[in-house]
Amino acid sequence: MGSGRAVNTPLSLKKEVISRAEHGISRAQISPNALKVLHRLHKAGFEAYLVGGSVRDLLLQRAPKDFDVATSAHPEAVRRLFSNCRLIGRRFRLAHVFFGPEIIEVATFRAHHSETHTPQQAQVRNGQIIRDNVYGTLEEDAERRDFTINALYYNHADGSVIDFNRGMEDIKNNIIRILGDPLQRYREDPVRMLRAIRFAVKTGFQIEPVTEKPLFTEGHLLQNVPQARLFEETCKLLLSGQSVAAFAKLETYNIFRYLFPETDKTIHLTTTNTDEQTVLYNRRLIERTLSNTDDRISKDKPITPAFLLAALLWPVLQNNLTPLKDSMPILAALEIAMNRTVDSQLSVFSIQKRFTLMMREIWQMQYQLQATYRAPYLLSRLKFRAGFDFLSLRAQSGETELTPLVDWWTEYQNADQTKREAMLAELPKPKRRRKRRRKKSV
Ligand code: ATP
Ligand code: MG
Repeated sequence: MGSGRAVNTPLSLKKEVISRAEHGISRAQISPNALKVLHRLHKAGFEAYLVGGSVRDLLLQRAPKDFDVATSAHPEAVRRLFSNCRLIGRRFRLAHVFFGPEIIEVATFRAHHSETHTPQQAQVRNGQIIRDNVYGTLEEDAERRDFTINALYYNHADGSVIDFNRGMEDIKNNIIRILGDPLQRYREDPVRMLRAIRFAVKTGFQIEPVTEKPLFTEGHLLQNVPQARLFEETCKLLLSGQSVAAFAKLETYNIFRYLFPETDKTIHLTTTNTDEQTVLYNRRLIERTLSNTDDRISKDKPITPAFLLAALLWPVLQNNLTPLKDSMPILAALEIAMNRTVDSQLSVFSIQKRFTLMMREIWQMQYQLQATYRAPYLLSRLKFRAGFDFLSLRAQSGETELTPLVDWWTEYQNADQTKREAMLAELPKPKRRRKRRRKKSV
């Protein structure tokens, strides 16, 4: 592993220019809107380059997810140039230029912080960068990026790629290498640890040893990340299409427990958690859900973080439910257990209300789907499909007693109206109705 290069600090900053003929990126692969942005910035006298994931992915002959631009123009100057532009972010101020559904992200060159900056420009607390709005040159910007493979600049004027950090070499050797001193860079922004994992699983590259070492010990730094950002980055990682590999790495690096602390307790045997079968089941359920998600992404099927979260937190919900089950009706117990489960996860990262609502519906549906006599109503529910898919995953993960129920629902969904009615007529009378009748006769 590793290229054997004397790594990360200090940066050599030896500028290399790779010509169009050498790197193989063609203009036709670049979003016309990104080209428009580059062109207009140039015409106005600013430097502007394509940077980040788009250059990396084009060099790897993959379709970029989005196009990021780095420029010498300050955000306000970018806004003046584009009417379809909005400035976002306080911590890291940048411009979004809108072209219908496509957003081109335009960031001003960043520089290192120094004592002379105002709090509006730069703020650092315990080594973590709270605000990062100190502007600089292209060379400085290249040092402030996260990984060498993300610090390559495409110059649309002559089609060349500019490389200060031997990122091209790392691309060729399949290596993820952080820029600068790893520990310092992870402390500045702990999210870079999740990014290292995301790029590793996305590209299949190796994280080189110096970059990798702190990942084993510094996961706790994630506790300092603002909760909304942590949620966003966790979703990006788990919805990267490579979530099985991402989960394995999160476990290897001891990081999973900082993202899902309660779930983590349910997938390891400890002195208090001794039920081996349940631990195995919980692990299988998570792995199946993740591989199912990866599969859906590869087929361009819709996915939602709510489904993943519902699955990842299901073992926690069960633990919260167990002590309540015998003392009250199941739906009342479920309500309390759901609140506890969601609240415990909300202490780690924020989850938008629309997602927590959907998680609750998926969970409730696990109990409602038992009442097959209500099939016409349940099938008409918006979240039926998600609820049913999760029920199937549970059965596949080891709750084999659910298999007949899953089979019944599968048959019911595939049946025509006459068959559906026949299936309902065959069901035993629901208990609740019988109870009510008995009450009346008393
Ligand atoms: P993706 O394919 O997910 O868009 P990306 O590398 O483009 O990957 P972005 O989040 O779009 O990721 O960021 C664009 C670029 O900005 C990165 O390639 C990197 O150069 C820089 N960057 C983003 N986040 C950080 C960070 N936390 N620290 C340093 N540089 C960063
Ligand atoms: Mg990007």
